Amino acid sequence: MKKRAHKFIFVTGGVMSGVGKGIATSSIGALLQAKGFVVNLLKVDPYLNVDAGTMNPTEHGETYVLDSGLETDQDMGNYERFLNRSLSQDDYITSGMVYKHVIEAERALKYGGHCVEAIPHIRDEIIRRFENSAKVNKSDITVVEIGGTVGDYQNIMFIEAARTMKVYHPKDVAFVMVSYMPVPRKLGEMKSKPTQNAIRQLNSYGVNTDIIIARSEVPMDHKRKEKIAISCSVPVEQVISAPDIESVFDVPLNFEKDNLGNILLKLLNLRHKRETVGMKDWETFAARVKSVKKPVHIAIVGKYFNTGDFVLTDAYVSVLEAIKYSAYKLGYKPVIHTVNARDYEGLKVSKSKFQELKKFDGIIVPGGFGESGIEGKLAVICFARENKIPYFGLCYGMQLMVIEYARNVLKLKDANTAEINPKSSALVIDIMPDQKKKIAAGNYGGSMRLGSYSANILKGSMAYEAYGKILIQERHRHRYEVNPDYIKILKEAGLVFSGQSPDGVLMEIAELPKKIHPFFLGTQFHPEFIARPLSPHPLFTAFIKAAVRRK
Ligand code: GLN
Repeated sequence: MKKRAHKFIFVTGGVMSGVGKGIATSSIGALLQAKGFVVNLLKVDPYLNVDAGTMNPTEHGETYVLDSGLETDQDMGNYERFLNRSLSQDDYITSGMVYKHVIEAERALKYGGHCVEAIPHIRDEIIRRFENSAKVNKSDITVVEIGGTVGDYQNIMFIEAARTMKVYHPKDVAFVMVSYMPVPRKLGEMKSKPTQNAIRQLNSYGVNTDIIIARSEVPMDHKRKEKIAISCSVPVEQVISAPDIESVFDVPLNFEKDNLGNILLKLLNLRHKRETVGMKDWETFAARVKSVKKPVHIAIVGKYFNTGDFVLTDAYVSVLEAIKYSAYKLGYKPVIHTVNARDYEGLKVSKSKFQELKKFDGIIVPGGFGESGIEGKLAVICFARENKIPYFGLCYGMQLMVIEYARNVLKLKDANTAEINPKSSALVIDIMPDQKKKIAAGNYGGSMRLGSYSANILKGSMAYEAYGKILIQERHRHRYEVNPDYIKILKEAGLVFSGQSPDGVLMEIAELPKKIHPFFLGTQFHPEFIARPLSPHPLFTAFIKAAVRRK
């Protein structure tokens, strides 16, 4: 059997979703990377959407954008944050992508008259993508997270592809299952049966896992570890207890304590590298997270999805994370408040309701689409501007900041974006010309201005003070832009466009001078997508600094 250049770890989920498979995968990546290996993380999403761009974020969580412009699941954000590097578009696979490729190849007669079937064609296309991702990243180790739970119909093909790879390369492929061990309150005892059943289900696919990461509310005792080990045919030291902890940033460190990194290297027949990066920086960061005490209160004014008594903030995970990293860096404990934009809409909203906003040290209006909540967001932005509360607008939050300025300072009462009222007599935000054609053709998927673009920063601006350089690269996801016809009068009225596309056509950052407002700045791009624990984003840091100063 040929020795492989790349090693693979497949992470599956057992019992139920939402127990932290993404964090476990990210942590395994961070751990192996610290040991000196080139690691890439790959997310498999079993749904038939070709990418994550067309799904409603209030229900499915944030759409994360890579440098390449691919719209992905929010797990890709965790991967990049834990690895402290950017991943490629080959690191994300959906069933939609795989099937689309195979069906298009069939239509183009690429299968030479054969019957095209799930096995081998779909399976082999999946394997090709796994291998390609390892190759593109020049990885020593590729960690693949297979979305969903073992037993789902949707992810069977991906597990089958992984199984096949293990058959051909038994020494180069390892399996990890992230499972759940409930402690039913009435019983007061940790139960292992659901995990045993999940493993049995995986066995029925011809796969036995090498490692079980058992998530639970409390640490697992040795007795249960042994029970799991014996019933699931896994050595007891390969059953890892992963109880709930205060900070997810401790997970890689806890895995290291449990020797998970070395166990994986042994399973993959990899020798220890002489040069290791180590986890020092990460340790310092993780310690800081727990040591910060002084609070900084930040409000995110958005659209939230309420399910019963619970408010889901998943649509804004990267924003939340970006706030945290900058707050930690400055020695503050971030306290994030969800403010529903719709609560600030209409004439009935009382003055005191607005006064409540003053308790926040800073306000963010994040990205968004469509009409709902817009008037509320505009009212909040106006209040933040007039009351000098630090304000940070992200994408839609920047466009709305420009509309607010046009309405209330330039007195263009009808000012709007073409996204909401294309008939407005003052379209200060308009559709980008190439986007018009795409919409007319009904081409909505993956067709916005997406991914990383460069911009030039204006010297002497707040943006320049934050970045400390002229040329920046930031990730985008939008169809609309500041209408070039209005730039001149907006500038004359005091708004500064401190970031522009290199050709000067697209306005990338708008701000008010520091002597007018402590921090009133919006970006057409999404800085939150490149904020990382070990490298917080300079604009978020500048915003939090202003928020802290207000205290
Ligand atoms: N809806 C706006 C646009 O498409 C803003 C997009 C966003 O906030 N990501 O331009």
